[in-house]
Amino acid sequence: MTEPDDAPRQEPVVHILWMNGGLSCDGDSVALTAATQPSIEEIVLGGLPGLPKAEMHWPLLDFQCGPTDGPDSFVEWYHRADRGELEPFILVIEGSIPNEAIKTEGYWSGFGNNPDTGESAFTQQPMMASEWLDRLAPKATAILAAGTCASFGGIHAMAGNPTGAMGVTDYLGQGWRTKAGLPIVNMPGCPTHPDSLSETLLYLLYQVAGQAPMIPLDEAQRPSWIFGATAHEGCDRAGYYEEGDLASEYGSPTCIVKLGCWGPVVKCNVPKRGWINGIGGCPTAGGICIGCTMPGFPDKFMPFMNETTDVRNSSAARGLNSGLIRDLRRITTAALEKEPAWRKPSKQLLSGYQPPW
Ligand code: SF4
Ligand code: SF4
Ligand code: SF4
Repeated sequence: MTEPDDAPRQEPVVHILWMNGGLSCDGDSVALTAATQPSIEEIVLGGLPGLPKAEMHWPLLDFQCGPTDGPDSFVEWYHRADRGELEPFILVIEGSIPNEAIKTEGYWSGFGNNPDTGESAFTQQPMMASEWLDRLAPKATAILAAGTCASFGGIHAMAGNPTGAMGVTDYLGQGWRTKAGLPIVNMPGCPTHPDSLSETLLYLLYQVAGQAPMIPLDEAQRPSWIFGATAHEGCDRAGYYEEGDLASEYGSPTCIVKLGCWGPVVKCNVPKRGWINGIGGCPTAGGICIGCTMPGFPDKFMPFMNETTDVRNSSAARGLNSGLIRDLRRITTAALEKEPAWRKPSKQLLSGYQPPW
């Protein structure tokens, strides 16, 4: 039945489906609760000018929290999206995607039930995270990978892992585009920075509403305005670095490069932006940068807290001229921007894991 011309028009709603059924610690969900510029409340309550009405389905805070088949089933929103009943929606993935193809039974991680496997919730099997991605990714208008696990595989995808875990782009394929032509947007960090995540979500909402140009991304598909500079370039200890005033133990206000800080070769805005409300931020607060926003994390940055003096973190390079230092750092950064080769779909586990039995 068509509506009469004078019927009140319903405001279009952009749904945000947050899926944390992969290998995740929920740290990025927790981070988002700390966002202030904008806050998640401002996004979902429509507190920003021109923002389309957004409805968020998020395990951490959703009002609908009931079980499958119940009157307030949370997972039903994801099934509705799968059936093509939610349009448009942004799919947010938190956690890495385990490789379910490397085994013959069982599953690594799931989210709700798979209705194709039984008559009722009591007989159905879990819907695996990878199957959700297979079903929802082609229907989503935009996909946002929240955190390093979803972006590049992260901690669960390090050498020797038994799950064959990988990031969303590893799983769907390099060059993958949504039906609207958007690349997968990576917002890495372990966890991701609260405001950088909410700001990126906000950008995607404006873009889905046709009010923003294509989101600018760097080669690792991270928002380029957020990842254009190194942690070192925004660190308020950089003056001590310049003076050669390098701490040899924690608790000092000076540069902590000798304690293993990777800031000079890591793309991250956290020291400049602060963690919450502009306060804190790894080296700024006295903790070394371990490169958690980088595709090569964690393997290429380990062991953490290891005093290194080579050109990787550049403390030995301070005597060289600045142009040469920049060139050397670019080479190092390029190597750290590459994921280990085992993070990809395969019938075999490639991570080097050796079962103990
Ligand atoms: Fe947790 Fe870090 Fe993975 Fe986010 S990126 S889910 S914080 S381990
Ligand atoms: Fe650079 Fe790290 Fe020193 Fe800060 S603490 S100035 S990021 S090396
Ligand atoms: Fe991660 Fe380094 Fe940025 Fe801290 S400063 S969030 S450790 S990349």
